[in-house]
Amino acid sequence: MKKAASRTGNGGAKSSEEDHNSKLQKLFTDELKDIYWAEKALVKAIPKMIKKASSEELIQALESHLAETEEHVNRVEEVFAELGLEPRTKKCEAMEGLIAEAESVMKDAEDGVMLDAGIIASAQKVEHYEIASYGTLRTFAQTLGLKGAVELLEQTLTEEKAADEKLTEVAESSINMQAANEE
Ligand code: ZN
Ligand code: FE
Ligand code: FE
Repeated sequence: MKKAASRTGNGGAKSSEEDHNSKLQKLFTDELKDIYWAEKALVKAIPKMIKKASSEELIQALESHLAETEEHVNRVEEVFAELGLEPRTKKCEAMEGLIAEAESVMKDAEDGVMLDAGIIASAQKVEHYEIASYGTLRTFAQTLGLKGAVELLEQTLTEEKAADEKLTEVAESSINMQAANEE
């Protein structure tokens, strides 16, 4: 189909570009459904991490990111609206796996600093997945000329990066040190 379009001269070149654009739009929409599922899953998963955490600093970091995550769900809905679409989820296998791993880490770790260190490790893997997803989504939106979407995605991307940095700080400031000292 692509080949046929490129053989038809100028008009063909244009329709091939349109074809490319609509394929990118489809990929963008699929990725958006994926992160929508992931963010919703996190709204349920983060409270379980908060319950298991002991460090006040970690609990605070998770609570503030839970509030942000609820906002991320809203922002994804706004991006769907920009596209003139109803928000739809598509199961994110990666996030399902990351959450399952977090649960098993929490089950296996001893309470206290070790458990906190495990929660941080799991949470940072989640943030990195989100950073990759929002980075891609923003770039797709840029390519598609969706200015409003770019702004929304950029905002969330910034918060995911900040959450990741905050977790690094928490880990460095207390938990990992204590965990090492406990041996
Ligand atoms: Zn998020
Ligand atoms: Fe995914
Ligand atoms: Fe996040």
